[in-house]
Amino acid sequence: MTNYYCAQCTHYECSKEVKGELPPSCPMRDKDLIESSFAEYSKEENRKFYITSSEIEALGYCQWTRLREIMEFSFRMNYHRIGLAFCRGLRNEARTVAKILKENGFDVISVICKTGGIDKDKAGIVHKVHPCEYEPMCNPVAQAKALEKAGTEFNIVLGLCVGHDSLFFKYTHTMTTVLAVKDRVTGHNPLAAVYNSEGYFKTRLRMDDGKTE
Ligand code: SF4
Repeated sequence: MTNYYCAQCTHYECSKEVKGELPPSCPMRDKDLIESSFAEYSKEENRKFYITSSEIEALGYCQWTRLREIMEFSFRMNYHRIGLAFCRGLRNEARTVAKILKENGFDVISVICKTGGIDKDKAGIVHKVHPCEYEPMCNPVAQAKALEKAGTEFNIVLGLCVGHDSLFFKYTHTMTTVLAVKDRVTGHNPLAAVYNSEGYFKTRLRMDDGKTE
């Protein structure tokens, strides 16, 4: 197993045109890794996608919001049929996002996480928000399959839970981006906890605060 520690690096030789001495655990020491990865971008299936997504950064730098970037990217990729896999907790946001996409000329196919309406008990989920009551399970596999059936060209994930998003990515075969992630505590802005990790969120970021079973 190889270990990499870019998050602890202070050299950032990767961002310099002329590279200096690489840190001992730098991924760039593995030439085969870097060269074989680079070769993937020239594949037909990736080339336009990669270049377009990279150029979006410069075209709307600090001007286009994430949602605008998604639309500009989709337009340049000739994606017309957009899938929206969203969480029930963000259903109002999903309605607004779908409206904005439609107003900008896209077809929007949307599937909510609770589709199927299957009780969590049936899936073996023990810890529920409301124990002893019917609670529909989230169904990211069905979301992925439904959007596949609908033939979406590009998908947007909006507010799926930790792990449910992973399953959606596992089961979809369509390129997918994320508009927002689920974070019930921070208004779906998980970096708020990171920015305040030495302040208001300090104790809530510790797994030994008594809130972990
Ligand atoms: S790639 Fe190398 S130089 Fe860049 S952050 Fe990682 S360890 Fe540092």
